[in-house]
Amino acid sequence: MNRRDHTLCALLLGVTISICTLSVVPLVLVYVGSNLPDLDAVIFKHRKTLHNVFSVIIITCVFYSASHGFWFVGVGMLLHIVLDMCSKSNVFFFYPLSNKGVGVRGPRNGTLWSTMLSLIITVLLCWLVVLVSKNI
Ligand SMILES: [Zn+2]
Repeated sequence: MNRRDHTLCALLLGVTISICTLSVVPLVLVYVGSNLPDLDAVIFKHRKTLHNVFSVIIITCVFYSASHGFWFVGVGMLLHIVLDMCSKSNVFFFYPLSNKGVGVRGPRNGTLWSTMLSLIITVLLCWLVVLVSKNI
């Protein structure tokens, strides 16, 4: 997915979580987290270094150590990675343990279908957040 789709979906999920938690912190952190993985394109190997489960755990722990409410960064990172898995290129989710790409070979980035698929996935996640928040 492209940056516009990631931003749109992060804002949608962040607003939903913020409404459910009555705090603006999740919105900011989901947005920040959703933009972190693509930093690996600048410095490291794209879709490897920051698009894996281990980087999500490490970065989430770093933010969590700063404040316990900051774990929403991990939610943003996972949203980014899930959306990338649904694009044409794979994500190396278990890197560096495995160099095997994970994904569904979805639509090309920047297409209308890509944006629609991103929104459908995010709306389903928002629905899940609302369901979970009502039961807590
Ligand atoms: Zn990415």
